[in-house]
Amino acid sequence: MTPDVFENSLAYAQAQDSTDILYSFRERFIFPQHQGKDVRYFCGNSLGLQPKSTSYLMQKELDDWGAFGVEGHTQARNPWLYYHHLFSESLAKIVGAFPDEVVAMNTLTVNLHLLLVSFYRPTKQRYKIIMEAGAFPSDQYAIETQAKLWGFDPNEAIIEVSPRSGEDTIREEDILKAIEDAGSSLALVLFGGVNYYTGQLFNMKGITEAAHRVGAYAGFDLAHAVGNVILKLHDWGVDFACWCSYKYLNSGPGGVGGAYVHRHHGDNPKVFRLAGWWGNEEATRFKMTKGFYPQKGVASWQMSNAPVFNMVAHRASLDIFEKAGMVALREKSDRLTAYLEYLLLQVNNLSFKIITPQAKEARGAQLSLLFGDRGREVFDRLSDAGIVADWREPNVIRIAPVPLYNTFEDVFAFYEILNSIG
Ligand SMILES: *Cc1c(COP(=O)(O)O)cnc(C)c1O
Repeated sequence: MTPDVFENSLAYAQAQDSTDILYSFRERFIFPQHQGKDVRYFCGNSLGLQPKSTSYLMQKELDDWGAFGVEGHTQARNPWLYYHHLFSESLAKIVGAFPDEVVAMNTLTVNLHLLLVSFYRPTKQRYKIIMEAGAFPSDQYAIETQAKLWGFDPNEAIIEVSPRSGEDTIREEDILKAIEDAGSSLALVLFGGVNYYTGQLFNMKGITEAAHRVGAYAGFDLAHAVGNVILKLHDWGVDFACWCSYKYLNSGPGGVGGAYVHRHHGDNPKVFRLAGWWGNEEATRFKMTKGFYPQKGVASWQMSNAPVFNMVAHRASLDIFEKAGMVALREKSDRLTAYLEYLLLQVNNLSFKIITPQAKEARGAQLSLLFGDRGREVFDRLSDAGIVADWREPNVIRIAPVPLYNTFEDVFAFYEILNSIG
């Protein structure tokens, strides 16, 4: 492939938009307003925009509740008893799995704990967990308390892999070496798919294979990867994963989370799971008898009946993903992010460093800009100019051009405003 050849001009950006097959998808979203105009929204990695269809679908569900009352469980246009089935096909495509390997349920950190209960069952010999240094705090807290739950000192049990001194991102060889070194003491590798702060995309296949070589499980938090990069969880042999739906998946604040468990474990009733009635075999769920019989697949990790109103927004968004397709989205995303990088390297009035890796295989839609002391001021000036970006302490501005609703013109406008701050 020839490298992208870009031009630093509005006309060029507009020409790119005019041939973009995904351009019209932006019409499906509601943009916040700034001085009477759509903002330039670069925050889809934190909270995705609302699809216009969400309120229509929400009203439809409210109408069914009104019309049917309790009978809605079976009589609603999408019967609530089986509501979680509506997500299997589309989620499977997004994460690269079979439909019975994915389920929409709970929220991210809750799912992480539930999966850790199944896949972190340490012994005196095998109890260590490898994770990335600087993981999202919720993940750190989850792992810390899971280690404590089993009576281990988190400082003993958790091995963090850090960037080398003077570097911003983690070298793959260092991850693989840490796994090999931990060897038979390693119970689990738990990594982010894409690190929330640096935007680094990890080689999940390589990490999984390395974990399996030493007899450990590999699980991933896909909060920043799902709906952003191409995932092939089943083929990579990933044991388990979980994600949230309110970032790239546009399913609204606190939106329903998701989980994946490889068939290998999902179809094995001996794998321990904390149980609730929704995970039981559907045929006997309402017999109200003693004894938990897990249904096949990850659906057996469900506890409660589906939070339908939360899931309506998820449907609105996944319908859009079905139509756009991850391959086309990722292709546009690669170019859009590369264009942003190309322009950022020409900003001459401000000093900052892009800490996100340059290689396409090592990043998704996000670029993280590390500023010296003026980061917060720059961020405020961007906000005043109608740019919605994201500020992360201590000094990073994250910019995510999202292929579903961002344009090359958005990226160019961002560059011009940034460059004018000086
Ligand atoms: C966004 C995010 C979370 C948030 O967790 P919730 O349980 O959804 O509140 C957790 N972990 C990572 C890596 C995230 O990016």
